[in-house]
Amino acid sequence: MTRFDKLTLPGEGHRIEIAQGKLHSPDDPIIPFIEGDGIGSDIMKASLRVWNGAVEKAYGKTRKVVWLEIYAGEKAVGIYGQPLPEDTVRAIRQYVVAIKGPLTTPVGGGTRSLNVALRQKLDLYACVRPVRYLPGVPSPVSHPERMDMVIFRENTEDVYAGIEWQRGTDEAKRFISYLKREFGIEITEDSGIGVKPISEAATKRLMRKAIRYAIDHNRRNITLVHKGNIMKFTEGAFRDWCYQVAQEEFPRETITERVVEDQYGGEVPAGKILIKDRIADSMFQQILTRTEEYDIVVTPNLNGDYLSDACAAQIGGLGMAPGANIGDPTALFEATHGTAPKYAGLDMANPSSLILSGAMMFEYIGWQQASYIIIDALSKTISQKKVTYDLARQMEGANRLKTSEFATAVIENMG
Ligand code: NAP
Repeated sequence: MTRFDKLTLPGEGHRIEIAQGKLHSPDDPIIPFIEGDGIGSDIMKASLRVWNGAVEKAYGKTRKVVWLEIYAGEKAVGIYGQPLPEDTVRAIRQYVVAIKGPLTTPVGGGTRSLNVALRQKLDLYACVRPVRYLPGVPSPVSHPERMDMVIFRENTEDVYAGIEWQRGTDEAKRFISYLKREFGIEITEDSGIGVKPISEAATKRLMRKAIRYAIDHNRRNITLVHKGNIMKFTEGAFRDWCYQVAQEEFPRETITERVVEDQYGGEVPAGKILIKDRIADSMFQQILTRTEEYDIVVTPNLNGDYLSDACAAQIGGLGMAPGANIGDPTALFEATHGTAPKYAGLDMANPSSLILSGAMMFEYIGWQQASYIIIDALSKTISQKKVTYDLARQMEGANRLKTSEFATAVIENMG
């Protein structure tokens, strides 16, 4: 049994079990949550009410979540004297599935992002972001309903591995002189240095997860998004390793765009998942001009960082986009926006991203009905123009609600 320094464990509920790599949720799973900084307390309070309401609506008294508060960020500093206590990491490992609000990351000053630290400590290697339009949400494009994508972004490597040295430091100077001495590469002395590792193992496990997801969710195609034309041995290798996984491990389920062109006259045979690739810069154009042709995306970290926010913008912004960081099988679901500090404690922020991340979490533990109820009720509430300030300012005739009132409206719409 895992020991915790300061967490008080609930007297009820059970751990989600794992057997042969699959999750088995009891009817009363203990699920840890991190409230988050800034608007975290407002949106978490509202979301917990919505999640509990949906579970009750779906399963009556036969199922319930036993929530366990764990700490990161400012609240953790108050309790533990540090922003990411070992208790928190241990609890997520122990209970397998958890959910979090946003956490502050100070810019510069050598402070590591708590989000990145959590992903690395728990080896949550796939950042999964479904991007789908809910009717009625204001959007900057004419046909937001054409977007229905799921982005699988590699979480542990690329420039997010955090290997870098400041200009002028001993490490940066040694690295620069090493490159000159060993490889004859000239880098000016006033350079900061960063390293971009992309490995075969990390790439392949991400691609495997994406293909399994595509099979389980009846998805049509997977697009590998990379800059292999410029960075051949990192981004280009990423693309090649992904194709290898499809061809060697899933030959019956997948087919490449080249084979479809050469052997099937451009028509994808029934039941096959099409694997294609696009250069990252052109993909930003494609999501606007040929939105409906893209389904699942698999991409290295930095491309995925940009692309997931650009896709979210098309369906109404980060306030509406859910997300998760998933390993094997530990998973941490999270709001995709930040702490929006100017709205902290004002009961104003939009809780939809966190609420929808909860719906994704219920789907992950096999509670599909609770997930459907949340998405349906949220969608109904927005189409009734009952929305928080951020959507209200873009809608004509909107009924502007507080965070807590919005949660109440969503619960009332669960029918
Ligand atoms: P942000 O917190 O996402 O906020 C930027 C703006 O986006 C807000 O001022 C607000 O715009 C809008 N917004 C974000 N969330 C909203 C919500 N739920 N409801 C309504 N509007 C919302 O981004 P930031 O200001 O760049 O970052 C602040 C802090 O959050 C930083 O410390 C950053 O590192 C951290 N962060 C954490 C995460 C995470 O924990 N996963 C992710 C991103 C950023 P308007 O003012 O125009 O209404």
